Amino acid sequence: MARWEILAPRRPLAVGKTVRGVNNLGLVALNTLLLRLLFPAAAVGMATFAARQGWGLFNYLDTPYLLAVVVSVVAMDFVIWLQHVMVHAVPALWRLHRVHHADLDYDVTTGARFHPIEMILSMIIKLATVALLGPPVLAVLIFEVLLNGTAMFNHGNVRLPLPLDCVLRWLVVTPDMHRVHHSVEDDEANSNFGFNLPWWDRLFGTYRDQPRRGHDGMTIGIHGYRDPKQVDRLPGMLALPFRGRVTGYAINRREWSAPKEREATDAGQAHACGAAPGHRRHPGRGVPRPVRS
Ligand SMILES: [Zn+2]
Ligand SMILES: [Zn+2]
Repeated sequence: MARWEILAPRRPLAVGKTVRGVNNLGLVALNTLLLRLLFPAAAVGMATFAARQGWGLFNYLDTPYLLAVVVSVVAMDFVIWLQHVMVHAVPALWRLHRVHHADLDYDVTTGARFHPIEMILSMIIKLATVALLGPPVLAVLIFEVLLNGTAMFNHGNVRLPLPLDCVLRWLVVTPDMHRVHHSVEDDEANSNFGFNLPWWDRLFGTYRDQPRRGHDGMTIGIHGYRDPKQVDRLPGMLALPFRGRVTGYAINRREWSAPKEREATDAGQAHACGAAPGHRRHPGRGVPRPVRS
């Protein structure tokens, strides 16, 4: 993905690659070390343990193996999707998750940067899911490889032909689809929560085709945290959950007051999948979303 980003970048980077890359990957190294120290096994190890103990649904039911593998992969993906929705919805969890969103650029290293406490919570949720589901070990292995692979893919700052993207995003979350989720605009950040399978967002009404200002015009990051020396440096990232106040569920007045502006800046929808140029797929949504900072 990193090589693809150099060969065919989607948008120019605001901060650049080197400093962000070193700091984002530094956080990955720290998280890896921490998880190894804290947990005796990861999800695959837990699946082996659950099978031996007879824990979980699929270790209890007599399901055909292949069906158990497929259903387990899809079910685990749904749990990850739901977890992602929740870390946006609950203010205290959003404090942790905003480390992922505060990156001022969007590339393959963004896909791996999460606060250590969020990584620990994710691991607990993942282990609990495996213990309750009792999936075949192969399913967990497939899921882990898929999730890591697609997270790198859909955070890639890579250029994909629009018709290909439009077909591909029925099967997997594409970079253009997930980039909408990294928009500074609250309503756009509260859409496209999927990391791997794209169906949950379509099914539960959180799918958004494109950013209003288009992929070149959109701003990446979150409100109020725009200093690269803080949000793109390791100490700043670690401190981010404990800084400032989460504004919670105050109404974003711009959502209420500027529908005309939204229409005027609906550049992104010109590139909507399946839409003729200039045609807007989604008129400005009337539902105000919580302001996030
Ligand atoms: Zn998110
Ligand atoms: Zn992301």
